[in-house]
Parts: sequence; C-alpha cells; structure tokens
Amino acid sequence: MSPDIINSLASNGLSPSGIFSGNPYFSAGFGLIGVGAVLAVLRQGSRKAAAFTRRQLLVTLEIPSKDKSYQWILAWLSDQQKLKSSSKKRIFSKIIQNATKPRHLAVQTTFKQHDNGSVAANFSFVPGPGKHLFNFNNRWIQVDRVRETKMLDLTNGAPWETITLTTLNKDRDIFNTILYNAQKKAIEQQKGKTVIYTSVGPEWRPFGPPRKKRVLSSVVLDNNISEDILSDVKDFIKNGKWYEERGIPYRRGYMLYGPPGTGKTSFIQALAGELGYNICILNLGERGHTDDRLNHLLTVAPERSIVLLEDIDAAFNKHRDRSDPNSVHLSMVTFSGLLNALDGVSSAEERITFMTTNHIDRLDSALIRPGRVDYKVYLGNATKFQTATMFNRFYPESPSLAAEFAEKTEGHQISPAQLQGHFVRFKTSAEMAIENFNLLTAKQDI
Ligand code: ADP
Repeated sequence: MSPDIINSLASNGLSPSGIFSGNPYFSAGFGLIGVGAVLAVLRQGSRKAAAFTRRQLLVTLEIPSKDKSYQWILAWLSDQQKLKSSSKKRIFSKIIQNATKPRHLAVQTTFKQHDNGSVAANFSFVPGPGKHLFNFNNRWIQVDRVRETKMLDLTNGAPWETITLTTLNKDRDIFNTILYNAQKKAIEQQKGKTVIYTSVGPEWRPFGPPRKKRVLSSVVLDNNISEDILSDVKDFIKNGKWYEERGIPYRRGYMLYGPPGTGKTSFIQALAGELGYNICILNLGERGHTDDRLNHLLTVAPERSIVLLEDIDAAFNKHRDRSDPNSVHLSMVTFSGLLNALDGVSSAEERITFMTTNHIDRLDSALIRPGRVDYKVYLGNATKFQTATMFNRFYPESPSLAAEFAEKTEGHQISPAQLQGHFVRFKTSAEMAIENFNLLTAKQDI
C-alpha cells in the first residue's frame, strides 16, 4: 500500500488497521499477504546479501575439461581422498571426513608398468559430478564438477565438463598451490616415460600406459646415423623463431627406410625418449579415416610429439587396390589427401613427422620431396661395426670376442633384430653365441 493512499485514508479518519480489523477474513488475508511480502523482501534481501557476501568472501576457479590441467586436477583430487582416509586421528575430524566424503564418485583407471613389462591397473575414485567439500592445507575448498548435457567438446565429441573450485577470498593463493601440485604429480607420473598416442576418431588418445623410455644408445645404428638425426631434430626444435621470421612452415619430415628389423621403429621410440617427446602413431589404413580427419589429426597432434606414419608404402598399396572392386577399403584417405595433410598450412606449431618404409622404391616421388620428407636415412642390415657394438652391449665382460663374432657376419645379410634374437638366446655365454653362429645364418638361408 503506497504511503499516499495511507495518508488519504488517515486524513479521512480511516486507518488501514481500522478498516481491516473490522473484517476478520480481510485482516487474516492482509496478515498473510504482509508476512508473505516481508518474507519475500527478506528472502530477496538475504539472497542479495548472500550473493554480496559470496562475492566479497569467496573466490572461485573454473577449469574447463578442454584445459590441460583438467585431468591433472581430477587425478590430484583423487589423491586428496586417499590422504584423508589415511589420516583419521580424531573423532571430530572423522565426522568431518564422513560428512565431506563425496557421495558420488567416478572411477579413473591408471596403469603401472613393472620392470618385467607386466602391467597392473590401478583404479582410483575421483569426485563425480556434483558438489564436494575437502580440506587442503587447513583450507576448506568446495569442488563442483558439472557435466553439461547439451554441450559437446567439438574437437572430440566428449561431453563438456567443468570443475569449479571455491574457497575463501583470503585463501585464494591456495589455487596456485593446487594447480602446481596437480601438475607436478602429472609430470612425475610421466617422468622417464614416453606416451604413445593413437587416433580415436578425430582425437588423439594415449594408447596403453606410458612406456619406459628406450635409451638411444640401445639402438645401434651404423657410423654416426643416430647422432646426426638427433642433432638435426634438436637443431629444428630450437629454431622456431628462424622459421617464423622467414615465413616457412615450422615442420620437418624424416624418412627411415630399409629392410625389416633394422631399428626404424625402435630408433624413433628412443629418439622421442631422448627428446622428452611423445609419439602419435597414425595408421592411415584405419577404418573411418578420411582426408579431412587426417588433416585435422595432424593439426591437433599433442605438443611435443612426433607423428609417426609406419610402413607408409603398405598404406598406399591398399589405395592402389581401389581399382579392384573386391578389395576391402577400410580407410577413405587418398594419396593427395595425405600430401595435403602433410603440407597443412593450418599448423603454426612445430611438427615433426617420421615415416618408415621397407620399400622406398614403391613410394611416389611426390611424397618424399623436400618439404614433406626433408631427411632420408637408410637403415640397413647389421654392419660389422653394429654387430660388434651390439655384441659388446650383450656381453660387456667379453670385449675381446666382439671382433671375432663380427668377422663371422662377413658375406651374410643379418638384421640387428636377428642379432638381438641370437644374443637373447645365448644370453649367458658369449662363447656359445660364437659357437652357434651358424644358427643365425641357417635361418638366413631358409
Ligand atoms: P624395424 O622397425 O626396422 O622393422 P624394429 O625397430 O621394430 O625394426 O626392431 C625390431 C626389434 O629388433 C626390436 O626389438 C629392436 O630392439 C631390435 N633392433 C632392430 N634394430 C636394432 C638396432 N639397430 N639396434 C638394436 N636393436 C635393434
């Protein structure tokens, strides 16, 4: 009721209470309306006050699923759970822990690779969608994990998610600590490991657990091949500015060719380990691949990774078969699609591509022209130098026998993979490896 109306009623000797008090229904109704109005005002006021207090007192940090730190934070949060359950000291903290334990969990599976190569899966629980409260460094933090039902991450088709951390404004520095700890944990887990990615639809996903790095010197190549490639790649990596200043696409392609079992794949793995890079294996023959997808995949390859296209000749033999109506085509990638993807102008970031083939002669010259392949190296069967070096690696206690063994390889075509097999077979005795040399060549002659 506006003050003007109340004043005019009063000047006529009528007060609102006077009018309404005569009528019990009316007065009850008025009372109700009044209380309702007051409550509404209070509620609105308290909402505003709450929002105001919230703004003043609280600080939030939003982490979208697209951000790299998202997975780190999730993994780190799962650790907080473990820590809590192991520090049950007092009853009070026990009650708090129970009250704040997330009721909605999601599982996150990690792998552990043992020295003998076996893999153990480890399941940890991370807070599922919803609100959770936890204490870190004596600060209370609310975690709100929200999964959008209508929004998708366009790059991979996964539901869009965000994690929002909320804490007291005065404790805002804790966010830095959390992000730092989460990143540190993630990096520690991958330390000394190489992550192998494969393409799943339009995105790259880690394939299996991160692999132990292979030491570069364990792949024995002839002369200085290994050192030369390594220094070329390192030179490329540190010259980003040079490329940028000259407007040249910042990418470099390498081709390793030669017979099977000569270390092409192993060398790339070891090189990635040496550089601290990961490997993205691109299988051109994969079902569902199209030229566009290939282009997209090359553009979105994770940072600090080597894109590896193995047995590139095999991929194109399949394509040649396209004229054959009976052949099964798994992939829709065309040869020109691959050339375009390799030339992709959209990639401003550095890109290192390695291709391998057993038959370079079968490759179209357009594929191996400079710009697509800038560095070609032949990896052949074991030379005497390689043979002796590998022998020494397997039998470090018998250096004097290395030359004798290497001499025996004269006139034979033996791959390093075959040598490795032979040394593994006679791992306990260098003499036995020499005595049984004929087994190696017998295999050759079959
Ligand atoms: P490619 O890719 O040339 O076919 P791989 O790299 O797959 O050969 O090698 C097969 C196996 O042989 C691996 O276990 C690797 O350890 C061994 N091998 C091949 N070449 C070498 C080499 N040059 N030095 C040491 N080991 C080698």
